[in-house]
Amino acid sequence: MNRITINLNNSKSEIYIGLNWNEFSRFIPVQNTVIITDDNIKNIYGSHFPQLPVFSVKPGEESKTLQVVTSLTERLLECGIDRSGFLVGIGGGVVCDLTGFLASVYMRGIRFGFVSTSLLSQVDASVGGKNAVNLGKVKNVLGCFRQPEFVICDPQMLNTLPEEEYLSGLAELIKMGLIMDYNLFSLAEQNKGRLLNRDIELLEYMISVSVELKASVVREDEKEVSGKRMILNFGHTFGHVIETMAGMKHGFAVAAGMVIASDISVQAGLLEPAARDRIVNLLKELKLIKEYIVPDAVFEEMLLKDKKKQGDNISFVLLESPGKAVISKINTRELMEFYKVLKRS
Ligand code: ADP
Ligand code: ZN
Repeated sequence: MNRITINLNNSKSEIYIGLNWNEFSRFIPVQNTVIITDDNIKNIYGSHFPQLPVFSVKPGEESKTLQVVTSLTERLLECGIDRSGFLVGIGGGVVCDLTGFLASVYMRGIRFGFVSTSLLSQVDASVGGKNAVNLGKVKNVLGCFRQPEFVICDPQMLNTLPEEEYLSGLAELIKMGLIMDYNLFSLAEQNKGRLLNRDIELLEYMISVSVELKASVVREDEKEVSGKRMILNFGHTFGHVIETMAGMKHGFAVAAGMVIASDISVQAGLLEPAARDRIVNLLKELKLIKEYIVPDAVFEEMLLKDKKKQGDNISFVLLESPGKAVISKINTRELMEFYKVLKRS
């Protein structure tokens, strides 16, 4: 078991990797605690939940809305939860985002913690204190920064995760290696079979490394001010467009975005072509490369609308080598030119 602490101005968040998930009972108050989960998790794990009120939402991104927040609020009020209340989100990114958001606004903020059940949320979503809901098609438009008191990442729970969800999470794990840690990347290369087989020991180690890396970024740049946190966006600029337009799961779209960003890094003379090939090979062997079609004009239009754009420039994350990312401000049209050249070759 590994414990990673994130201490920020006035909050402390403890992340436990490899702790049995139902140990969360140790961290909650005796009274006034409510579990928020989704129907899939409830079906699989609900019989082992402690005797607490359980509010279950429909699985999937559609539950990340203000309507769901409103109806959960009504239920909290019915249960008599006051400012001493505590929310435990047990689920993937959707449940954690929703729980963190609700806990942050309910009665001007109550305590909360997570049992993070998907690989994507263990390596990414539940660490870092970002909580938000969507409005229509606009993702994460209402939200806040607030750290959960605890996050339990139990790799055993990943055994019940559907294959596509598992692979999608692997992409974020590989991303952490690519931007910050050559050893993590190389470990994945050497252990593709074990990774695909969800080897618990390997996962516990790799998730721990990845969370520690993310924690180090969050400690330096909690609210995306200094720009350090931006490297986490590697593969996400094109990835988000592909996710929206081609309807691909997040991790697969990010994998596609990482291939494009690696290609552009080669074109820009930063990354060795051989290193690019290693990256693409690893993603292929981890079954993360899928076909997609997005017309150039759509890419261009979406990139021009990117919310991370400043003026005509976009902060784009490039690689110098596996394990070392650099942020480069590129004119959006120039970025598209790079992309078009790349597609022709
Ligand atoms: P994310 O990929 O951001 O974590 P979700 O919270 O929507 O997104 O989780 C993805 C899907 O996987 C949901 O349908 C959820 O119910 C399901 N899921 C999450 N964790 C597990 C698990 N440990 N076992 C089975 N299904 C899970
Ligand atoms: Zn992501």
